[in-house]
Amino acid sequence: MQALDDILQDAETAIQSAADLKSLDDCRVHYLGKKGQLTEYLKKLGQLSAEERPIAGQKINAIKEKIQALIEERNLELKNLLIAAQLSSEAIDITLPGRMLGNGSLHPITQTIEDLRRIFSQMGFSFCEGPEIEDDYHNFAALNIPALHPARAMQDTFYFPDGLLLRTHMSPVQIHVMETLKPPFRIAATGKVYRRDFDLTHTPMFHQMDVLMIEENLSFAKLKGLVTTFLREFFQIDAAVRFRPSYFPFTEPSAEADMSCLNCSGEGCRICKNTGWLEVLGCGMVHPNVFKGVGIDHQRFRGFALGAGLDRLALLKYGISDLRALFENDLRFLNQF
Ligand SMILES: [Zn+2]
Repeated sequence: MQALDDILQDAETAIQSAADLKSLDDCRVHYLGKKGQLTEYLKKLGQLSAEERPIAGQKINAIKEKIQALIEERNLELKNLLIAAQLSSEAIDITLPGRMLGNGSLHPITQTIEDLRRIFSQMGFSFCEGPEIEDDYHNFAALNIPALHPARAMQDTFYFPDGLLLRTHMSPVQIHVMETLKPPFRIAATGKVYRRDFDLTHTPMFHQMDVLMIEENLSFAKLKGLVTTFLREFFQIDAAVRFRPSYFPFTEPSAEADMSCLNCSGEGCRICKNTGWLEVLGCGMVHPNVFKGVGIDHQRFRGFALGAGLDRLALLKYGISDLRALFENDLRFLNQF
């Protein structure tokens, strides 16, 4: 009995001082394994008398359970120590400030297109699209610009070998719409157009907006009202608007619309070339020949159309002096918007 108590005492010391899981397992084998100290005593039970045997058996089992419990307890301690050691060795210093992600911004052309869409949608216009590669009919003939018409020389066109071309203006979209929709309607389109031109104020690709409205009782005065509303809304100023007589093959009468200078409000400055006015768009009443070509009754319906250089609108609105800056993808420039 005394020997058994000594075993328990030894085991307690050994288990407490086991520094890792391996030495703890060695302890388990040493006391409880097949050839362990307690097992040896169990084997010797047979040598005891019938009275002594149950007492010794109980004692051995009690010590066995005690040792098992001590091992489990130490096992848990050692595992927790391991986790703590791992956590402290793999700790990450999170005190360094993070790297800021730069905010993106919309290109001034994109912002202009979104503004135009908002303004004209509010006035009941739907936005349409058309192909950038056009045929001669939609780009010229259907817009009252027949072959050999001098207006063709105004637009230096990119031609493909098969006679197709890159659209030189957005007006072909009007033809596509008039071929498919029955008036009355209000449509607008923004998109890329192409001309063989490249200098300070011209790029081979640029953007235009076209607006077309067809109803039974439209007047030139209504057109001027629309243009004025649009310009005031777009530039967010109470600008004066004037029409100057002009010529476009597809409208009659035609006008260039000017607005009072954004910079000097009409006093005269470098931007408006001392005139006090900025030329912003062209417009007019749809020519009867255009209606005849697409089969719209020109006695019953009136239409007006306006076309504007979208890039020029963006330059004026954001005070940019060089058109090419819009297409050079210089982030230092683009980040300003
Ligand atoms: Zn001015």
